[in-house]
Amino acid sequence: MDFAAYVRDIKDFPKQGVIFKDITPLLNNPEALARACEALCGFTTNMKIDKVVGVDSRGFIFAPMLAERLQAGFVPVRKKGKLPYKTVSESYDLEYGSETLEIHTDAIKKGEKVLIHDDVLATGGTASAVCKLVEKLGGEVVQCNFLVELTFLDGAKKLNGYQIEALLQY
Ligand code: IMP
Repeated sequence: MDFAAYVRDIKDFPKQGVIFKDITPLLNNPEALARACEALCGFTTNMKIDKVVGVDSRGFIFAPMLAERLQAGFVPVRKKGKLPYKTVSESYDLEYGSETLEIHTDAIKKGEKVLIHDDVLATGGTASAVCKLVEKLGGEVVQCNFLVELTFLDGAKKLNGYQIEALLQY
């Protein structure tokens, strides 16, 4: 399926100079949604996965669907202050300022195999922080998968040593 036909470019969103990849047309189309889910699961064929981690907030769209199909649990990683129970956190630099992500301390057990999912891999700062959170809890990151990889931003370099998969590359 031509997934690219269901991802649109939004110029100057959320700020001037950014071309935002908008996945909502893909979500809106029943066949594209089902096929995308199937293809993301296909990346993990023959892998044992205990937990699927979804990244706040667009990672929450597919990650629970993947978890259900892979018979794994779903774990939300959220921006600071949103999770109600005890957390561990990881901060990383953004172009301007910084961001802190958190995970519940009991979300992943030592030795569990973890798939990380987010909608877009850009500079890799977010996914790399999520890998660190999983590892702080003793989990093993077996793959990071994305709908879209913006290859010109070199995010894969920051995720050196991890298996990276994406449905679409730009
Ligand atoms: P990174 O940390 O630079 O790799 O940015 C990835 C994070 O920013 C992900 O959580 C994405 O949801 C979000 N993001 C960055 N660029 C885009 C985009 O073009 N469309 C949708 N989300 C984006």
